[in-house]
Amino acid sequence: MTNIDPAVGKAVLAADRKHVFHSWSAQGLINPLPVAGAEGCYFWDYEGNRYLDFTSQLVNTNLGHQHPKVVAAIKEQAERLCTIAPSFANDQRSELARMIAEVAPGDLDMVFFTNSGTEAVENAIRMARLHTGRHKVLAAYRSYHGSTHGSIALTGEPRRWGSEPAIPGVVRFHGPYPYRSAFHAADEREECARALAHLEEVITYEGPQTVAAIILETVVGTNGVLVPPDGYLSGVREICDRHGIVFIADEVMVGFGRIGEWFAVDAWGVVPDLITFAKGVNGGYVPLGGVVISRRIADTFRERPYPGGHTYSGHPLACASGVATLRVYHEEGIIERVRRLGEEVAGPLLRELAERHPSVGEVRGRGLMWAIELVRNRDTREMLVPYNASGPAAEPMNRVAAACKKRGLWPFTHFNRVHVVPPLVITAEQLKEGIAILDEALAVADEYV
Ligand code: PLP
Repeated sequence: MTNIDPAVGKAVLAADRKHVFHSWSAQGLINPLPVAGAEGCYFWDYEGNRYLDFTSQLVNTNLGHQHPKVVAAIKEQAERLCTIAPSFANDQRSELARMIAEVAPGDLDMVFFTNSGTEAVENAIRMARLHTGRHKVLAAYRSYHGSTHGSIALTGEPRRWGSEPAIPGVVRFHGPYPYRSAFHAADEREECARALAHLEEVITYEGPQTVAAIILETVVGTNGVLVPPDGYLSGVREICDRHGIVFIADEVMVGFGRIGEWFAVDAWGVVPDLITFAKGVNGGYVPLGGVVISRRIADTFRERPYPGGHTYSGHPLACASGVATLRVYHEEGIIERVRRLGEEVAGPLLRELAERHPSVGEVRGRGLMWAIELVRNRDTREMLVPYNASGPAAEPMNRVAAACKKRGLWPFTHFNRVHVVPPLVITAEQLKEGIAILDEALAVADEYV
């Protein structure tokens, strides 16, 4: 561990609290941990406390911290060419686009680069609207798509509320969630059939000729790690084809290996029209996102200009880090190892926790993306804390998180769930160590049963 110095930590925190305005936070109520350094799956503070990161920060540091090959690529690019406008061709940008097209499904072989997932979503809906000449976008409840006005309007959870009214033309639907079914379905098959019938009904009443796109997270991330039942995504594809609607798969969180596939849609063999990505493409070392575009939609803009862009679209430093990241994915067989760790370690061990702890209502996930849903009562499925709880109502979850941190594990908690989303380079031993800590921490949640 480097940079350990409590006095520096105090100064960093003091300056932060005075001048840094933090996202999604009441500025007077937060106490961010000053981080002195990080390597691989760990980060540490200035006091010398080290944490195993079960969050991958914001589910983005897929190769962990300070991967030497990615750091070297950024340094090399900085010395060669720090920046060049998007209107020029650049070796790192074109190589990254080629590498993404190589692993993308179907005929998705052109890439529009952005600086974030939010911007990727903004551009995807713009492309869909211009391609179809229609204006409505259907988006799911229990989704997060970003924080600017278009993407927050699509978001189906409380983070949207403070920005309303955002953009017009967004219509919401329920996706499948067997554990808390909006359709009172008895099992996954019924949930899938009813969710598709509901989507079809929403389209009928909205008027199919007005609907430009359906956007969904292939596996819903922050809102619960909701893995779609088999048949759901192919059903959405079929509905989109029948009505001439663009299918946008938001893979900002799950793209690039999170569930043990290059793109999560691959797990179900479904080819959307547009895929949004960010995070895992370069592990967040330099801000980067984008849209992978099907030939058909790209052709819309062959003779007609695409009306959108960013000064830093396809920034050379970001793209160089992306090229190096994807090379590591290939060299280190990241996709395969995620699949194996999910099937052999994370899945079995987390399911064992469900057997041992009465507060665990359900464990679900795939690859290195799991959720433990905590309840007060397994029969009624009453949540351990209410939806969107804050203040004293959120205390049980805050206590679970504190119990993890005390033992050196940094957990991802959201509403009544603990998500297990470590870097994809985590070893089996580190994964077992983190799950053993979760096992101890869940004793706190059991007190409320
Ligand atoms: N879409 C999904 C599915 C996400 O998970 C996120 C961020 O977590 C976004 C979009 C927004 O990405 P960004 O935070 O890079 O703007």
